[in-house]
Amino acid sequence: MDLHVLKFGGTSMNDHKTWKQVLEIIKNYEYPIVVVSATAKTTRQLIEAGKLAADNKLDEALELGDAIKLRHLEIIQNFLEENPHPKKTLIKESCEKKLDEKIGLLHKFLTYTHKVGELTPAMKDAIASIGEQISSYLLAQCGLATDQLTQFVDAKKIIKTDNNYGNAFPNFGLINQRIGSLETLLDGGFTPVIGGFYGEAPDGTTTTLGFEGSDYSASLIGGALHSKSIEIWTDVSGVFTSDPRFIKDAKPIPELSYFDATEMAYFGSKVLHPSTLKPAQERNIPVLVKNMFAPEESGTRIIRESAQTQKALAVSFKEDMALLTVSAYETVMGYNFLTRVFKALEDHRLAVDAVNTTEASVTIALSDSEKLDEIAKSLIEIGNVDLEREKGLISIIGYRSSDATELSNDIFDAIQPVSLGMISYTKQKRILNLAVDQTIMVETAQKIHSSLF
Ligand code: ADP
Ligand code: ASP
Ligand code: MG
Repeated sequence: MDLHVLKFGGTSMNDHKTWKQVLEIIKNYEYPIVVVSATAKTTRQLIEAGKLAADNKLDEALELGDAIKLRHLEIIQNFLEENPHPKKTLIKESCEKKLDEKIGLLHKFLTYTHKVGELTPAMKDAIASIGEQISSYLLAQCGLATDQLTQFVDAKKIIKTDNNYGNAFPNFGLINQRIGSLETLLDGGFTPVIGGFYGEAPDGTTTTLGFEGSDYSASLIGGALHSKSIEIWTDVSGVFTSDPRFIKDAKPIPELSYFDATEMAYFGSKVLHPSTLKPAQERNIPVLVKNMFAPEESGTRIIRESAQTQKALAVSFKEDMALLTVSAYETVMGYNFLTRVFKALEDHRLAVDAVNTTEASVTIALSDSEKLDEIAKSLIEIGNVDLEREKGLISIIGYRSSDATELSNDIFDAIQPVSLGMISYTKQKRILNLAVDQTIMVETAQKIHSSLF
């Protein structure tokens, strides 16, 4: 059985026309497994509703829930009008029933959140996952209206995780045990349709895999099934040399290695969730990034090894970064000093993006968060602490600089007279990181991109 896992993101799930397109694309595969995101904007609105409820604005929160319901009802209505089917009434009723159930649940969650006055991490996940719970069920129903044997599968039955709400870690053993139910469906001629992004903690509560987590769901499923490919269908023709929304002349990269694609995702190229490539890499499954709106274009193929002929592969960037600099007091010595700084980061579960050290000082680039104030306070024990916020981190991935002159020509001449908060480069990993003020991040990235490509 040649299995293919196909994931469709929020923009692909935008309206009845794109739903139809999704259903057309999956017809080209004998054994597809479909993973879908929530419809565009839904996850954001759900989280917004949760925050409003916690903030004593229950009415506004409930209204958001109603708006989400209405938007989905319209999609179903339009879809069934454009794709008439003898079972139309039955399908519509089943969709309406599911929407009533899920939006009813959402209202219950919002009312509870309002009552307790805070949006707990567990409740936030329960609320945020409703978008995928709805979209997967409704799309499977629309498949029936086009005579496809699509079958909704609740992701909680398969994606088992720990209880680290908001960024849950998968339980690979349990996922492998549960994956057989999909094979049974496929054997029976059905196409499973599963909501991405969410899963289930050991106590049965709902968890999520982090923002953009549907990509990760798809690769977890593909990995467990040993699928032939994991295909991320989105609104651009592959992974580009930089974010095509901001950087002119950015172009698709035909082939990438798992390593470079992971670095790109990690350093801000939003097209893939950073963990997506791990399960694929373990089983050596190619990951394809394809355009929903131009399926004939080849997109990007991500595989184990890809021969690099260019000087650089991509320019990624991310904002809302901070630079934390700690300069040791004389009494605190070398290795002990660094250990204590990193221990503080570990205690707060903060991931580091780039580091620069001397024996007596360290500068760390990491995502800004409220936790940084606490860390800065705790580090005063060992040194002078300086926290610079509103920084942007630009990362040149796959950068092969042979010498300083080349580095200077490619990068520094191109971006003058920008002041750099930090630079780090490792030749072995071919990644050059530059921290700049957030306000000039995009224009600086553009200059580097123009110089390199
Ligand atoms: P989906 O809803 O399909 O998950 P996303 O919005 O998560 O789609 O990802 C696709 C978007 O990622 C593109 O529209 C593009 O604007 C953005 N993007 C950022 N960096 C890159 C990149 N390097 N290559 C391709 N797209 C990128
Ligand atoms: N809907 C979720 C999000 O917006 C997950 C996803 O789309 O991948 O983050
Ligand atoms: Mg995405």
